[in-house]
Amino acid sequence: MKVPFLNFHYQHSNIKPEIQQAFLSVYDSYWYILGHHLSDFEKEFADYSQVKYAVGISNGLDALFLSLKILGVGAGDEVIVPSNTYIATALAVSHLGATPVFVEPDSNTYNLDPTKIEAALTPRTKAIMSVHLYGQACQMNEIMDIAQRHNLYVVEDNAQSHGAEYDGRMLGSWGHINATSFYPGKNFGALGDAGAVTTNHEEWAQAIRSYRNYGSKEKYKNEVLGYNMRLDELQAAILSVKLKHLDNWTQYRKDIAMLYLDKLQGVGDLILPFTHPLASHVYHLFVIRTPQRDTLQKHLEENGVGTLIHYPIPPHLQEAYSFMGHQKGDFPIAEELAMSSLSLPLWPGMQQEEVDYVVNHIKAFYA
Ligand SMILES: *Cc1c(COP(=O)(O)O)cnc(C)c1O
Repeated sequence: MKVPFLNFHYQHSNIKPEIQQAFLSVYDSYWYILGHHLSDFEKEFADYSQVKYAVGISNGLDALFLSLKILGVGAGDEVIVPSNTYIATALAVSHLGATPVFVEPDSNTYNLDPTKIEAALTPRTKAIMSVHLYGQACQMNEIMDIAQRHNLYVVEDNAQSHGAEYDGRMLGSWGHINATSFYPGKNFGALGDAGAVTTNHEEWAQAIRSYRNYGSKEKYKNEVLGYNMRLDELQAAILSVKLKHLDNWTQYRKDIAMLYLDKLQGVGDLILPFTHPLASHVYHLFVIRTPQRDTLQKHLEENGVGTLIHYPIPPHLQEAYSFMGHQKGDFPIAEELAMSSLSLPLWPGMQQEEVDYVVNHIKAFYA
């Protein structure tokens, strides 16, 4: 048996006729950019996210970038970013000329630790970015309280957490303006690059619609120095189809995660995912931890089990961020996570025998 890290077969074979229909609907419309497939999807995704407005964007990084831009983040500003995120979160800040200020995660949930945020604030801090890493919601009550006390904005990075909630309320609806990615491998993925912004703020939604389309609301009238950051009709139509199946797929992910949690309890020195009592977890990734991570990964690979590391190098130690002058040891929790984390195979449609195969090879490693 071979168990890949990710397999789209179950998801994509089941919806193939619907996707073909969506494709033909766009194809035959002869209208490929900024049409009704996009505006329909935006309404559906806004409803799903329990917000008034969703704006389709070219990808997750651009959605983060435009969210921060609309809040006025720019040169000289600081933005709180978790030290253990995917680099896109920090890049969105840097591309606006602002500085990402890294704050360590809680070592149980791996999400931004609210008790450490205030020590990192300065008069230049403009916003807090809460990344719901691996699919688990951040402690949004605490984060929103801190933001309110210090007059800061909150931008959720919802790229890994479609459909998750905190304290009964959907992610993507907590922050002032929020961004997500529909990269194919995310829980809710397009068949190419795609992303969105969600907000309840009408003016910001309109401004983002303008910025994504060359700074133009009316054709050939440009009000601001805009970008080309549009989501195309084809991806929007495909996302509309997939959105109807997302809750089923999320339940599938949760069921697989429960199997892993049950079967891996007490195995070797493994640290299993912990979910905060008010958070829901949609298991974009099922991340285990062990000091023997590299040898365990090699053992699994030799036995046909695909795993990945999310993420092997934290942003502050990336060459791209060397200009900031951070050193090894500056963010020890993020650095420890980078050395010990291993993501196991998990996808909607994964079979119990495949879970057992992974679990048995992990047990064999420790035997
Ligand atoms: C994937 C991801 C992004 C970037 O999304 P793209 O669509 O690839 O640009 C941003 N933040 C996080 C946490 C992600 O996982």
